[in-house]
Amino acid sequence: MTWFIQAIYFLTAVAFIYALKQMSHPRTARKGVVYAGIAMAVAVLATFLWPGMQNLGLMVVALVLGGAVAWWAAKVVAMTDMPQMVAIYNGMGGGAAGTIAAVELLKGELSPAFAALAVLGGLIGAVSFSGSLVAFAKLQGLMRERPITFPGQQTFNLVWLAVTVILGIVLIFKPAVSLIVLFFLLALAFGVLMTLPIGGADMPVVISLYNAFTGLAVGFEGIALIQPALMVAGTVVGAAGTLLTQLMAKAMNRSLANVLFGAFGAVEEEGPVEGEMKEIGLEDAAALMAYAGKVIIVPGYGMAVAQAQHKIKELMDELEKRGVEVKFAIHPVAGRMPGHMNVLLAEAGVPYDKLFDLDEINPEFETADVALVIGANDVVNPAARREGSPLYGMPILDVDKAKNVIVVKRGRGKGFAGIENELFYRPNTRMLFGDAKDVVTKLVQAIKQY
Ligand code: NDP
Repeated sequence: MTWFIQAIYFLTAVAFIYALKQMSHPRTARKGVVYAGIAMAVAVLATFLWPGMQNLGLMVVALVLGGAVAWWAAKVVAMTDMPQMVAIYNGMGGGAAGTIAAVELLKGELSPAFAALAVLGGLIGAVSFSGSLVAFAKLQGLMRERPITFPGQQTFNLVWLAVTVILGIVLIFKPAVSLIVLFFLLALAFGVLMTLPIGGADMPVVISLYNAFTGLAVGFEGIALIQPALMVAGTVVGAAGTLLTQLMAKAMNRSLANVLFGAFGAVEEEGPVEGEMKEIGLEDAAALMAYAGKVIIVPGYGMAVAQAQHKIKELMDELEKRGVEVKFAIHPVAGRMPGHMNVLLAEAGVPYDKLFDLDEINPEFETADVALVIGANDVVNPAARREGSPLYGMPILDVDKAKNVIVVKRGRGKGFAGIENELFYRPNTRMLFGDAKDVVTKLVQAIKQY
Protein backbone atom coordinates (compact mmCIF):
# COMPACT_ATOMS: atom_id res chain seq x y z
CA MET A 1 0.00 0.00 0.00
CA THR A 2 2.84 2.39 0.86
CA TRP A 3 4.32 1.88 -2.59
CA PHE A 4 0.94 2.46 -4.18
CA ILE A 5 0.48 5.72 -2.30
CA GLN A 6 4.01 6.88 -3.13
CA ALA A 7 3.36 6.07 -6.81
CA ILE A 8 0.20 8.21 -6.71
CA TYR A 9 2.15 11.02 -5.03
CA PHE A 10 4.77 10.76 -7.75
CA LEU A 11 2.15 11.00 -10.48
CA THR A 12 0.50 13.98 -8.79
CA ALA A 13 3.90 15.69 -8.55
CA VAL A 14 4.36 15.17 -12.31
CA ALA A 15 0.84 16.54 -12.85
CA PHE A 16 1.70 19.67 -10.79
CA ILE A 17 4.71 20.36 -13.00
CA TYR A 18 2.69 19.82 -16.17
CA ALA A 19 -0.11 22.03 -14.82
CA LEU A 20 2.35 24.80 -14.06
CA LYS A 21 3.66 24.61 -17.61
CA GLN A 22 0.08 24.95 -18.89
CA MET A 23 -0.44 28.00 -16.69
CA SER A 24 2.38 29.83 -18.45
CA HIS A 25 0.14 30.68 -21.42
CA PRO A 26 -3.29 32.35 -21.19
CA ARG A 27 -4.73 29.94 -23.73
CA THR A 28 -3.93 26.86 -21.64
CA ALA A 29 -3.94 28.46 -18.17
CA ARG A 30 -7.49 27.38 -17.28
CA LYS A 31 -6.68 23.77 -18.12
CA GLY A 32 -3.54 24.04 -16.00
CA VAL A 33 -5.55 25.21 -13.00
CA VAL A 34 -8.00 22.31 -13.44
CA TYR A 35 -5.19 19.72 -13.77
CA ALA A 36 -3.49 21.06 -10.65
CA GLY A 37 -6.79 20.96 -8.75
CA ILE A 38 -7.46 17.36 -9.78
CA ALA A 39 -3.89 16.35 -8.88
CA MET A 40 -4.26 17.94 -5.45
CA ALA A 41 -7.59 16.18 -4.86
CA VAL A 42 -6.03 12.83 -5.81
CA ALA A 43 -3.05 13.45 -3.49
CA VAL A 44 -5.41 14.30 -0.60
CA LEU A 45 -7.54 11.20 -1.22
CA ALA A 46 -4.45 8.98 -1.39
CA THR A 47 -3.42 10.27 2.04
CA PHE A 48 -6.54 8.63 3.52
CA LEU A 49 -5.16 5.24 2.43
CA TRP A 50 -1.98 5.68 4.49
CA PRO A 51 -1.61 2.72 6.89
CA GLY A 52 -2.29 3.66 10.50
CA MET A 53 -3.94 6.97 9.56
CA GLN A 54 -6.13 8.14 12.44
CA ASN A 55 -8.86 10.73 12.99
CA LEU A 56 -10.31 10.16 9.53
CA GLY A 57 -13.65 11.65 10.64
CA LEU A 58 -11.99 14.86 11.83
CA MET A 59 -10.03 15.08 8.58
CA VAL A 60 -13.23 14.84 6.56
CA VAL A 61 -14.89 17.55 8.67
CA ALA A 62 -11.85 19.84 8.21
CA LEU A 63 -11.79 19.21 4.46
CA VAL A 64 -15.51 19.85 4.03
CA LEU A 65 -15.42 23.04 6.12
CA GLY A 66 -12.25 24.40 4.49
CA GLY A 67 -13.38 23.38 1.01
CA ALA A 68 -16.81 24.98 1.43
CA VAL A 69 -15.41 28.29 2.70
CA ALA A 70 -12.79 28.40 -0.08
CA TRP A 71 -15.38 27.53 -2.76
CA TRP A 72 -17.75 30.24 -1.57
CA ALA A 73 -15.00 32.86 -1.19
CA ALA A 74 -13.63 32.15 -4.67
CA LYS A 75 -17.12 32.44 -6.17
CA VAL A 76 -17.95 35.82 -4.62
CA VAL A 77 -14.55 37.54 -4.76
CA ALA A 78 -14.27 40.54 -7.09
CA MET A 79 -11.39 40.49 -9.59
CA THR A 80 -9.94 43.61 -7.96
CA ASP A 81 -9.82 41.78 -4.60
CA MET A 82 -7.91 38.84 -6.05
CA PRO A 83 -4.47 39.83 -4.65
CA GLN A 84 -5.71 39.72 -1.05
CA MET A 85 -7.43 36.40 -1.68
CA VAL A 86 -4.19 34.95 -2.98
CA ALA A 87 -2.49 36.42 0.11
CA ILE A 88 -4.81 34.70 2.53
CA TYR A 89 -4.72 31.33 0.76
CA ASN A 90 -0.97 31.51 0.54
CA GLY A 91 -0.80 32.40 4.23
CA MET A 92 -2.83 29.28 5.00
CA GLY A 93 -0.23 27.19 3.12
CA GLY A 94 2.57 28.73 5.18
CA GLY A 95 0.55 28.20 8.35
CA ALA A 96 -0.01 24.55 7.46
CA ALA A 97 3.72 24.01 6.87
CA GLY A 98 4.51 25.76 10.16
CA THR A 99 1.97 23.63 12.01
CA ILE A 100 3.41 20.39 10.61
CA ALA A 101 6.84 21.54 11.81
CA ALA A 102 5.47 22.36 15.27
CA VAL A 103 3.80 18.93 15.59
CA GLU A 104 6.92 17.10 14.44
CA LEU A 105 9.12 19.08 16.84
CA LEU A 106 6.68 18.51 19.72
CA LYS A 107 6.86 14.75 19.12
CA GLY A 108 10.59 15.08 19.84
CA GLU A 109 11.50 12.10 17.65
CA LEU A 110 13.46 13.89 14.92
CA SER A 111 17.20 13.48 14.50
CA PRO A 112 19.12 16.80 14.61
CA ALA A 113 19.40 16.94 10.80
CA PHE A 114 15.66 16.47 10.32
CA ALA A 115 14.87 18.74 13.28
CA ALA A 116 16.95 21.45 11.59
CA LEU A 117 14.85 21.13 8.45
CA ALA A 118 11.64 21.21 10.51
CA VAL A 119 12.85 24.36 12.31
CA LEU A 120 13.77 26.02 9.00
CA GLY A 121 10.44 25.08 7.43
CA GLY A 122 8.62 26.15 10.59
CA LEU A 123 10.33 29.55 10.63
CA ILE A 124 9.66 30.26 6.95
CA GLY A 125 6.10 28.92 7.16
CA ALA A 126 5.25 31.01 10.23
CA VAL A 127 6.72 34.18 8.67
CA SER A 128 4.78 33.51 5.48
CA PHE A 129 1.57 32.97 7.49
CA SER A 130 1.65 36.13 9.62
CA GLY A 131 3.20 38.24 6.83
CA SER A 132 0.46 37.17 4.42
CA LEU A 133 -2.20 38.07 6.99
CA VAL A 134 -0.76 41.59 7.28
CA ALA A 135 -0.64 41.80 3.47
CA PHE A 136 -4.29 40.75 3.39
CA ALA A 137 -5.25 43.32 6.03
CA LYS A 138 -3.46 46.11 4.16
CA LEU A 139 -5.03 45.28 0.82
CA GLN A 140 -8.48 44.76 2.33
CA GLY A 141 -8.29 48.18 3.99
CA LEU A 142 -8.40 46.66 7.49
CA MET A 143 -5.21 48.50 8.38
CA ARG A 144 -3.19 51.45 7.11
CA GLU A 145 -1.92 50.74 3.59
CA ARG A 146 1.02 53.12 3.77
CA PRO A 147 4.35 51.85 5.04
CA ILE A 148 4.50 51.77 8.85
CA THR A 149 8.03 52.79 9.79
CA PHE A 150 9.97 53.82 12.88
CA PRO A 151 13.60 54.85 13.45
CA GLY A 152 16.03 51.94 13.59
CA GLN A 153 13.37 49.59 12.22
CA GLN A 154 15.68 47.53 10.04
CA THR A 155 18.21 46.97 12.85
CA PHE A 156 15.36 46.09 15.22
CA ASN A 157 13.97 43.56 12.71
CA LEU A 158 17.41 42.09 12.10
CA VAL A 159 18.02 41.60 15.83
CA TRP A 160 14.56 40.05 16.19
CA LEU A 161 15.31 37.61 13.36
CA ALA A 162 18.73 36.77 14.83
CA VAL A 163 17.17 35.96 18.24
CA THR A 164 14.55 33.78 16.52
CA VAL A 165 17.18 31.91 14.52
CA ILE A 166 19.36 31.35 17.62
CA LEU A 167 16.35 29.98 19.47
CA GLY A 168 15.65 27.73 16.47
CA ILE A 169 19.19 26.35 16.64
CA VAL A 170 18.77 25.64 20.37
CA LEU A 171 15.51 23.85 19.55
CA ILE A 172 17.25 21.40 17.24
CA PHE A 173 19.10 19.94 20.22
CA LYS A 174 16.66 20.69 23.03
CA PRO A 175 13.07 20.58 21.74
CA ALA A 176 11.36 21.69 24.98
CA VAL A 177 7.68 22.65 24.63
CA SER A 178 8.17 26.15 26.07
CA LEU A 179 11.03 26.83 23.63
CA ILE A 180 8.98 25.59 20.68
CA VAL A 181 6.08 27.89 21.62
CA LEU A 182 8.40 30.87 22.08
CA PHE A 183 10.14 30.14 18.77
CA PHE A 184 6.88 30.13 16.83
CA LEU A 185 5.63 33.29 18.58
CA LEU A 186 8.87 35.10 17.65
CA ALA A 187 8.67 33.79 14.05
CA LEU A 188 5.04 34.90 13.70
CA ALA A 189 5.88 38.34 15.09
CA PHE A 190 8.79 38.61 12.65
CA GLY A 191 6.39 38.06 9.73
CA VAL A 192 4.35 41.03 10.98
CA LEU A 193 7.41 43.22 11.57
CA MET A 194 8.78 42.42 8.12
CA THR A 195 5.55 43.35 6.36
CA LEU A 196 4.62 46.55 8.25
CA PRO A 197 7.10 48.84 6.41
CA ILE A 198 5.90 47.68 2.99
CA GLY A 199 3.27 49.83 1.28
CA GLY A 200 -0.09 48.38 0.24
CA ALA A 201 0.59 48.78 -3.46
CA ASP A 202 3.80 46.73 -3.21
CA MET A 203 1.90 43.90 -1.61
CA PRO A 204 1.48 41.81 -4.78
CA VAL A 205 5.28 41.50 -5.01
CA VAL A 206 5.47 40.63 -1.33
CA ILE A 207 2.64 38.10 -1.65
CA SER A 208 4.55 36.47 -4.48
CA LEU A 209 7.63 36.36 -2.23
CA TYR A 210 5.64 34.81 0.61
CA ASN A 211 4.29 32.35 -1.92
CA ALA A 212 7.89 31.31 -2.64
CA PHE A 213 8.48 31.12 1.14
CA THR A 214 5.47 28.84 1.58
CA GLY A 215 6.79 26.58 -1.16
CA LEU A 216 10.18 26.41 0.54
CA ALA A 217 8.60 25.70 3.92
CA VAL A 218 6.50 22.89 2.45
CA GLY A 219 9.57 21.52 0.66
CA PHE A 220 11.60 21.47 3.91
CA GLU A 221 8.75 19.77 5.77
CA GLY A 222 8.58 17.24 2.91
CA ILE A 223 12.22 16.36 3.49
CA ALA A 224 11.75 16.27 7.29
CA LEU A 225 8.80 13.88 6.88
CA ILE A 226 10.38 12.01 3.92
CA GLN A 227 7.37 12.85 1.76
CA PRO A 228 8.36 13.15 -1.92
CA ALA A 229 5.03 14.73 -2.94
CA LEU A 230 5.54 17.56 -0.46
CA MET A 231 9.17 17.93 -1.50
CA VAL A 232 8.29 18.22 -5.20
CA ALA A 233 5.17 20.39 -4.75
CA GLY A 234 7.03 22.68 -2.33
CA THR A 235 10.04 23.00 -4.60
CA VAL A 236 7.86 23.77 -7.62
CA VAL A 237 5.94 26.46 -5.70
CA GLY A 238 9.18 27.84 -4.24
CA ALA A 239 10.87 28.08 -7.64
CA ALA A 240 7.81 29.47 -9.44
CA GLY A 241 7.21 32.01 -6.66
CA THR A 242 10.84 33.14 -6.73
CA LEU A 243 10.80 33.60 -10.51
CA LEU A 244 7.50 35.48 -10.39
CA THR A 245 8.79 37.75 -7.62
CA GLN A 246 11.88 38.54 -9.69
CA LEU A 247 9.84 39.19 -12.83
CA MET A 248 7.52 41.56 -11.00
CA ALA A 249 10.37 43.45 -9.37
CA LYS A 250 12.14 43.69 -12.74
CA ALA A 251 9.04 44.98 -14.53
CA MET A 252 8.80 47.71 -11.87
CA ASN A 253 12.55 48.34 -12.17
CA ARG A 254 12.93 47.81 -8.45
CA SER A 255 15.23 45.47 -6.64
CA LEU A 256 13.58 43.07 -4.24
CA ALA A 257 15.55 44.76 -1.44
CA ASN A 258 13.97 48.06 -2.45
CA VAL A 259 10.49 46.53 -2.31
CA LEU A 260 11.18 44.98 1.10
CA PHE A 261 13.09 47.81 2.74
CA GLY A 262 12.41 50.85 0.56
CA ALA A 263 9.11 51.84 2.24
CA PHE A 264 7.82 52.72 -1.25
CA GLY A 265 4.52 54.57 -1.29
CA ALA A 266 5.88 57.21 1.04
CA VAL A 267 7.52 58.96 -1.94
CA GLU A 268 8.17 62.65 -1.87
CA GLU A 269 6.17 65.02 -4.09
CA GLU A 270 7.76 66.24 -7.30
CA GLY A 271 7.41 69.77 -8.67
CA PRO A 272 4.52 70.72 -10.98
CA VAL A 273 4.62 69.36 -14.53
CA GLU A 274 4.98 71.82 -17.40
CA GLY A 275 2.23 72.11 -20.00
CA GLU A 276 -1.51 72.16 -19.89
CA MET A 277 -4.06 69.41 -19.41
CA LYS A 278 -6.61 69.52 -22.23
CA GLU A 279 -9.93 67.74 -22.39
CA ILE A 280 -11.73 66.10 -25.32
CA GLY A 281 -15.50 65.71 -25.69
CA LEU A 282 -17.10 62.30 -26.09
CA GLU A 283 -18.29 62.98 -29.64
CA ASP A 284 -14.87 64.20 -30.78
CA ALA A 285 -13.19 61.17 -29.23
CA ALA A 286 -15.65 58.84 -30.94
CA ALA A 287 -15.13 60.51 -34.32
CA LEU A 288 -11.36 60.40 -33.97
CA MET A 289 -11.45 56.66 -33.34
CA ALA A 290 -14.13 55.79 -35.87
CA TYR A 291 -12.09 57.39 -38.66
CA ALA A 292 -8.73 56.10 -37.42
CA GLY A 293 -6.70 53.51 -39.26
CA LYS A 294 -5.20 52.04 -36.12
CA VAL A 295 -6.19 52.30 -32.45
CA ILE A 296 -4.09 50.86 -29.64
CA ILE A 297 -5.98 50.36 -26.38
CA VAL A 298 -3.91 50.52 -23.19
CA PRO A 299 -5.76 49.16 -20.17
CA GLY A 300 -4.60 49.69 -16.58
CA TYR A 301 -5.71 49.34 -13.00
CA GLY A 302 -8.66 51.72 -13.54
CA MET A 303 -10.16 49.29 -16.06
CA ALA A 304 -10.16 46.62 -13.37
CA VAL A 305 -11.69 48.99 -10.81
CA ALA A 306 -14.44 50.02 -13.22
CA GLN A 307 -14.88 46.46 -14.60
CA ALA A 308 -14.90 48.04 -18.04
CA GLN A 309 -13.49 45.05 -19.94
CA HIS A 310 -16.81 43.91 -21.48
CA LYS A 311 -17.56 47.40 -22.77
CA ILE A 312 -14.02 47.62 -24.13
CA LYS A 313 -14.63 44.41 -26.07
CA GLU A 314 -17.77 46.03 -27.54
CA LEU A 315 -15.72 49.08 -28.44
CA MET A 316 -13.19 46.84 -30.20
CA ASP A 317 -15.99 45.13 -32.15
CA GLU A 318 -17.55 48.43 -33.22
CA LEU A 319 -14.22 49.85 -34.36
CA GLU A 320 -13.32 46.70 -36.28
CA LYS A 321 -16.70 46.76 -38.01
CA ARG A 322 -15.63 50.16 -39.34
CA GLY A 323 -12.33 48.80 -40.63
CA VAL A 324 -10.19 50.15 -37.79
CA GLU A 325 -7.25 47.98 -36.75
CA VAL A 326 -7.42 47.49 -32.97
CA LYS A 327 -4.62 46.18 -30.77
CA PHE A 328 -4.17 45.99 -27.00
CA ALA A 329 -0.93 46.98 -25.30
CA ILE A 330 -0.34 45.03 -22.10
CA HIS A 331 2.29 46.19 -19.62
CA PRO A 332 3.61 43.38 -17.40
CA VAL A 333 2.66 45.21 -14.19
CA ALA A 334 -0.51 46.97 -15.36
CA GLY A 335 -3.17 46.50 -12.70
CA ARG A 336 -2.29 45.02 -9.36
CA MET A 337 -1.23 41.47 -10.09
CA PRO A 338 0.64 39.68 -12.85
CA GLY A 339 -1.60 38.91 -15.80
CA HIS A 340 -4.37 41.12 -14.35
CA MET A 341 -5.23 42.71 -17.70
CA ASN A 342 -4.92 39.44 -19.64
CA VAL A 343 -7.35 37.70 -17.31
CA LEU A 344 -9.94 40.49 -17.46
CA LEU A 345 -9.77 40.89 -21.22
CA ALA A 346 -9.93 37.12 -21.73
CA GLU A 347 -13.00 37.06 -19.48
CA ALA A 348 -14.61 39.60 -21.81
CA GLY A 349 -13.75 37.51 -24.88
CA VAL A 350 -10.96 39.65 -26.36
CA PRO A 351 -8.89 37.21 -28.50
CA TYR A 352 -5.36 36.57 -27.21
CA ASP A 353 -3.82 37.42 -30.54
CA LYS A 354 -4.97 41.02 -30.06
CA LEU A 355 -2.91 41.37 -26.86
CA PHE A 356 0.69 42.51 -27.30
CA ASP A 357 3.33 42.91 -24.67
CA LEU A 358 5.62 45.85 -24.17
CA ASP A 359 8.42 44.90 -26.58
CA GLU A 360 6.04 43.86 -29.33
CA ILE A 361 3.79 46.90 -29.24
CA ASN A 362 6.15 49.77 -28.43
CA PRO A 363 7.47 50.16 -32.01
CA GLU A 364 3.84 50.36 -33.21
CA PHE A 365 2.73 53.45 -31.28
CA GLU A 366 4.32 55.73 -33.87
CA THR A 367 1.97 54.31 -36.49
CA ALA A 368 -1.15 54.49 -34.27
CA ASP A 369 -3.67 57.23 -34.96
CA VAL A 370 -5.08 56.91 -31.45
CA ALA A 371 -3.70 55.42 -28.25
CA LEU A 372 -6.67 55.01 -25.93
CA VAL A 373 -5.43 54.80 -22.33
CA ILE A 374 -8.11 53.37 -20.06
CA GLY A 375 -7.37 53.63 -16.35
CA ALA A 376 -3.62 53.23 -16.82
CA ASN A 377 -1.25 55.73 -15.32
CA ASP A 378 2.23 54.71 -14.13
CA VAL A 379 2.75 52.23 -16.96
CA VAL A 380 2.44 55.06 -19.50
CA ASN A 381 4.28 57.79 -17.58
CA PRO A 382 7.16 59.22 -19.68
CA ALA A 383 8.74 60.39 -16.39
CA ALA A 384 10.15 56.86 -16.23
CA ARG A 385 12.62 57.94 -18.91
CA ARG A 386 13.86 60.87 -16.80
CA GLU A 387 16.66 60.35 -14.30
CA GLY A 388 15.67 61.41 -10.79
CA SER A 389 12.02 60.42 -11.15
CA PRO A 390 10.83 57.75 -8.68
CA LEU A 391 9.74 55.81 -11.76
CA TYR A 392 13.11 56.17 -13.51
CA GLY A 393 14.09 53.01 -15.35
CA MET A 394 10.70 51.32 -15.27
CA PRO A 395 9.98 50.16 -18.82
CA ILE A 396 6.85 51.95 -20.05
CA LEU A 397 4.48 51.73 -22.97
CA ASP A 398 5.50 54.46 -25.45
CA VAL A 399 1.96 55.81 -25.67
CA ASP A 400 3.17 59.40 -26.07
CA LYS A 401 4.54 58.52 -29.51
CA ALA A 402 1.04 57.95 -30.94
CA LYS A 403 -0.46 60.70 -33.10
CA ASN A 404 -3.31 61.22 -30.64
CA VAL A 405 -3.56 60.07 -27.06
CA ILE A 406 -6.92 59.89 -25.28
CA VAL A 407 -6.77 59.19 -21.56
CA VAL A 408 -9.86 57.91 -19.77
CA LYS A 409 -9.77 58.38 -16.00
CA ARG A 410 -12.09 59.78 -13.36
CA GLY A 411 -10.16 62.88 -12.41
CA ARG A 412 -6.72 64.07 -11.48
CA GLY A 413 -5.96 61.09 -9.25
CA LYS A 414 -2.41 59.78 -9.38
CA GLY A 415 -1.26 56.25 -10.09
CA PHE A 416 0.20 53.78 -7.64
CA ALA A 417 3.60 55.53 -7.56
CA GLY A 418 1.87 58.73 -6.40
CA ILE A 419 3.53 61.01 -8.93
CA GLU A 420 2.16 63.30 -11.63
CA ASN A 421 1.96 61.87 -15.13
CA GLU A 422 3.72 64.01 -17.75
CA LEU A 423 1.78 62.27 -20.50
CA PHE A 424 -1.42 64.08 -19.47
CA TYR A 425 0.22 67.46 -20.20
CA ARG A 426 1.65 66.60 -23.61
CA PRO A 427 0.34 68.51 -26.67
CA ASN A 428 -0.97 65.32 -28.34
CA THR A 429 -2.84 64.12 -25.24
CA ARG A 430 -6.45 64.85 -24.35
CA MET A 431 -8.33 63.75 -21.26
CA LEU A 432 -11.75 62.13 -21.28
CA PHE A 433 -12.81 62.28 -17.65
CA GLY A 434 -15.22 59.78 -16.12
CA ASP A 435 -15.54 56.25 -14.84
CA ALA A 436 -13.98 53.90 -17.41
CA LYS A 437 -17.06 51.71 -17.85
CA ASP A 438 -19.38 54.67 -18.14
CA VAL A 439 -17.17 56.51 -20.64
CA VAL A 440 -16.54 53.44 -22.82
CA THR A 441 -20.28 52.63 -22.85
CA LYS A 442 -20.98 56.13 -24.15
CA LEU A 443 -18.12 55.91 -26.65
CA VAL A 444 -19.60 52.71 -28.09
CA GLN A 445 -22.98 54.44 -28.49
CA ALA A 446 -21.38 57.46 -30.13
CA ILE A 447 -19.26 55.37 -32.52
CA LYS A 448 -22.38 53.53 -33.69
CA GLN A 449 -23.47 56.74 -35.42
CA TYR A 450 -20.53 56.58 -37.80
P1 NDP B 1 -2.06 53.00 -11.75
O1 NDP B 1 -2.36 52.41 -10.45
O2 NDP B 1 -0.76 53.66 -11.96
O3 NDP B 1 -3.19 54.05 -12.15
C1 NDP B 1 -4.52 53.69 -12.24
C2 NDP B 1 -5.31 54.88 -12.70
O4 NDP B 1 -6.65 54.44 -12.89
C3 NDP B 1 -5.36 55.99 -11.68
O5 NDP B 1 -4.60 57.08 -12.12
C4 NDP B 1 -6.85 56.34 -11.53
O6 NDP B 1 -7.05 57.74 -11.76
C5 NDP B 1 -7.52 55.52 -12.61
N1 NDP B 1 -8.79 54.95 -12.18
C6 NDP B 1 -9.11 54.38 -11.00
N2 NDP B 1 -10.38 53.98 -10.98
C7 NDP B 1 -10.89 54.29 -12.19
C8 NDP B 1 -12.17 54.14 -12.79
N3 NDP B 1 -13.19 53.58 -12.12
N4 NDP B 1 -12.35 54.58 -14.04
C9 NDP B 1 -11.34 55.17 -14.73
N5 NDP B 1 -10.11 55.35 -14.21
C10 NDP B 1 -9.89 54.91 -12.96
O7 NDP B 1 -2.29 51.83 -12.82
P2 NDP B 1 -1.36 51.15 -13.90
O8 NDP B 1 -2.10 49.92 -14.31
O9 NDP B 1 -0.94 52.13 -14.94
O10 NDP B 1 -0.05 50.77 -13.13
C11 NDP B 1 0.00 49.75 -12.17
C12 NDP B 1 0.88 50.17 -11.04
O11 NDP B 1 0.75 49.20 -10.00
C13 NDP B 1 2.34 50.26 -11.44
O12 NDP B 1 2.96 51.35 -10.84
C14 NDP B 1 2.89 48.95 -10.91
O13 NDP B 1 4.28 49.05 -10.62
C15 NDP B 1 2.04 48.75 -9.67
N6 NDP B 1 1.98 47.37 -9.26
C16 NDP B 1 1.57 46.41 -10.15
C17 NDP B 1 1.60 45.08 -9.80
C18 NDP B 1 1.21 44.01 -10.76
O14 NDP B 1 1.55 42.86 -10.54
N7 NDP B 1 0.48 44.31 -11.81
C19 NDP B 1 2.04 44.66 -8.48
C20 NDP B 1 2.38 45.76 -7.61
C21 NDP B 1 2.35 47.06 -8.01
P3 NDP B 1 -8.35 58.48 -11.20
O15 NDP B 1 -8.34 58.25 -9.73
O16 NDP B 1 -8.17 59.90 -11.59
O17 NDP B 1 -9.51 57.84 -11.86
